Amino acid sequence: MTAEIIDGKEIAREIREEIGREVAALKAETGKVPGLAVVLAGGDPASEVYVGMKEKACRRAGIASFTHRRPEGVTGPELLELVGELNRDPEVHGILVQLPLPSPIDEREVIEAVDPARDVDGFHPLNLGRLIRGEEGFLPCTPLGIVELLNRSNHSPEGKHVAVVGRSTIVGKPLALMLARKARGANATVTLCHTGTADLGEITRQADILVVAAGRPGTVDGSMVREGAVVIDVGVNVAGRTPGGKRILAGDVDFPSVEKKARAITPVPGGVGPMTIAMLLKNTLEAFRNQVAPAGKDTA
Ligand code: NAP
Repeated sequence: MTAEIIDGKEIAREIREEIGREVAALKAETGKVPGLAVVLAGGDPASEVYVGMKEKACRRAGIASFTHRRPEGVTGPELLELVGELNRDPEVHGILVQLPLPSPIDEREVIEAVDPARDVDGFHPLNLGRLIRGEEGFLPCTPLGIVELLNRSNHSPEGKHVAVVGRSTIVGKPLALMLARKARGANATVTLCHTGTADLGEITRQADILVVAAGRPGTVDGSMVREGAVVIDVGVNVAGRTPGGKRILAGDVDFPSVEKKARAITPVPGGVGPMTIAMLLKNTLEAFRNQVAPAGKDTA
């Protein structure tokens, strides 16, 4: 079997274009555009790359982006003050605090300072709590992108057994909750795996859909995948450098052996990554819609 390659780049492009059209329509209606503020503290090179990609995606979709760079030595109180200002800025509808923050800053404290109505990363405890309770709120971008990717590529998780490898707060755990929701495009039976899972292969071989977010290359190989399964590789690992110094990326899945067993698989790069950014724009647009009433609508 040769696996279908799920083209996250193309699907994300379509979503960004849909968002761009909606932003233009809302601009014509309200005279305003959505604004995303990004807090980038310290000089982490990977964070610089991610923020650059987010700025570019915003620009292309007509979303205003405001990046607030702070040096490595910035303090927690200074960041809290900045977040407070952004919470009050009428041009800012979404706020993203790029992680990791320089140590010893308490990331939790800074994330909790973000107004939950502007928490487009979906990391605020209030939004995570809403997810557990099945209420409306911002959902974390990577898991949201994975659910969207499955549905848009005609691999609906409904009624399927999905195994998720990894239980982080930003990927595995919220993804498991989102997939298990009693909702269209979800409604899956979910098994959440981690390093305490006694026999990982035993579980992953039972999955119709397998999502791997372990942060370790080769966590899953072909022997651990059921014939005909759909495999989503979330991992982003630096596998080496080109002679020119560019990073060579690898996922968490051993692509050559898994590709032979799977019905469909995401590549790295070009799978989940672009979807994460598209979902950030989607959440920012939603935050804008919630905060800026369309012209003519009674806001009293
Ligand atoms: P993380 O916080 O390090 O969590 C990794 C999880 O995987 C943990 O729950 C860990 O279990 C589990 N795990 C690790 N090795 C395992 C193994 N051999 N068997 C079973 N479980 C194992 O990582 P993360 O932040 O979720 O990120 C995961 C990967 O996704 C990383 O490569 C990251 O770069 C990538 N990522 C990509 C995007 C994107 O947009 N493409 C976004 C976010 C993250 P324990 O809890 O037991 O330690």
